[in-house]
Amino acid sequence: MACLICSATLPANPSPAAGEDDPVDDLASYLAQARDISYTRHWREAQIMLDKISDQIDPSDPGAFAEFHLLKARHLVLADQLSEGLDRASMLLEHELAPEPKLRTLQFAANTAVLLRNYELAFDHLLNALQIEPEVEDTAATIATYNMAAYMFGRVGEHERAMTYGELAVERAVSTGKANDECITRQRLAPVFKWASRTEDARAEYRKAIAACQDAGNRLFVGVVQYGFADLLNQLERPEEAYRLVNTAIATLKSAEWPIGEHEARLHRAQIQHRLGVLPENIDAELEALSEYFTTRELFDQLAQTEELRARIAGDNGEHELANRHLMRFLDARERFLSRDRAMLMAYLQVEFDLRTKEQQIDLLREIARLAELEVETTRQQRRARTIILFLSVGLLALLVALLVRTFQARQHFRELSRRDRLSGLANHGWFFERADAMIQEARRFHESAFLVMADIDNFKQINDSHGHVLGDQVLGQISRRLREAFGEEALIGRIGGDEFAVLVSGQDETKVIEAINQFTRAGPGSSRADDPTPTLSFGVALMQPEDDLVGLRQRADAALYQAKAAGRDRFIISGPEY
Ligand code: GH3
Ligand code: MG
Repeated sequence: MACLICSATLPANPSPAAGEDDPVDDLASYLAQARDISYTRHWREAQIMLDKISDQIDPSDPGAFAEFHLLKARHLVLADQLSEGLDRASMLLEHELAPEPKLRTLQFAANTAVLLRNYELAFDHLLNALQIEPEVEDTAATIATYNMAAYMFGRVGEHERAMTYGELAVERAVSTGKANDECITRQRLAPVFKWASRTEDARAEYRKAIAACQDAGNRLFVGVVQYGFADLLNQLERPEEAYRLVNTAIATLKSAEWPIGEHEARLHRAQIQHRLGVLPENIDAELEALSEYFTTRELFDQLAQTEELRARIAGDNGEHELANRHLMRFLDARERFLSRDRAMLMAYLQVEFDLRTKEQQIDLLREIARLAELEVETTRQQRRARTIILFLSVGLLALLVALLVRTFQARQHFRELSRRDRLSGLANHGWFFERADAMIQEARRFHESAFLVMADIDNFKQINDSHGHVLGDQVLGQISRRLREAFGEEALIGRIGGDEFAVLVSGQDETKVIEAINQFTRAGPGSSRADDPTPTLSFGVALMQPEDDLVGLRQRADAALYQAKAAGRDRFIISGPEY
């Protein structure tokens, strides 16, 4: 059976099909065919070819060795054995590889590590891949590496770098003249522009991506790009256009049989329907199905969005208890999503620094070795020279030690960086809740009060839309400063989401907290220009109860904030203990 398949797939080449057990003479071209088949037909066909030659593979032929194991690793991943696939790639990387297979292996390993959420390893491989990429001619591997860089840098908020690599990938792809390469790179670059709030560029890129993917006949990516674009149009307050596009996307993705994409597109459709006020009758069942799908696949970002929408719909219908339940699920899913994101950022900062330090250390060690060699030569000649060299060696060693100390300090620094929100300088989501938890426990120990205040800017989307994201960012900065002034240095203040803030105040009574909120509101935006936006905030306040933990406290503060929004915004609501 096995050979029926391989002979049928390889009519032009007699060697692979010749005799069941004959060794294959030209391994390189045999493997090239297997690779071709792996990418263009079912991978199992290619795996059957690999099984036939496994006895002939050993490291003495590094080219065949690398090609064989990389293909095998790919097949393991496609068979859902991700860890085994990654192990195989790691084994390959321990051997001396030529630049091209090495780049392909690094790129593959980075990709697989992301799927396994091993971000440190993923960035390690990615940064290595980017280093050796200039030595490699293979355009496909380069494009894949740039594309991956655009995605990963985009995810950790390194937008400039992400855009640079995304644009490089597109440039390369266009130069190959292959529509599919262009399609794949443009579909990657468009959301990077979106993340970076470069909406005009994002819009142009989405259009080009749809055209390229249609040219390439790549239905799956046409669908993916369409719903990404629909999401952008919805954000840009053009829900009618978004609605038309998202429906097309769903049909496209259904016919391309890509369920994750289809479900994401259906979520976007529901969000747009909600905004347009045209929710269909079966919306509850639809959102229930989406929620279940995202839960089983641990797609927390999408799950959070689904639950938030369900909470809003329940709230609109006056079903506050149900709204509250969805709100809790939303918070839980968002928490998981954000902690994943934070792990990714931390991994990136550490790996990037380690890589740079490693290079410097290697340079220094090389220099020390060179001096040592020189020393051997000169021992017989000049004592004076030797002393100088010895002196230099000691100096270099001291430098090396200093570098190690700096590594340690930098790690501390990165830890601090990973705790701060870059835009506002306030604690970020992860750090805020970590500290808040400790503060609450301390307050409990000393029988002190603790208040959690959740705050969210009102209609911030409109401010962004009418004044631009740059000004939006400035508003976020101003609000952060005003919060600090109103609540004082003692309070723990965090920016825990896009336009969401949280404050933890301990050892104060309720009047102090209300006074701080009023002071914040009275102080106003502090801008003198007439056309500047005048943002307001809604607040939800909760007092720690004897049986409270952070989760309970937060749920009540969030529910109060939700009520403040529902009651018309620009106000605060204090949660009763019964909530
Ligand atoms: P609501 O009163 O219901 O809160 O309305 P809203 O418009 O504020 O709605 P929502 O809180 O859902 O929207 C938050 C917006 O904040 C969406 C996004 O465009 C914007 N945003 C998130 N992060 C940033 C950022 O870092 N900079 C800027 N400029 N805008 C951001
Ligand atoms: Mg808001």
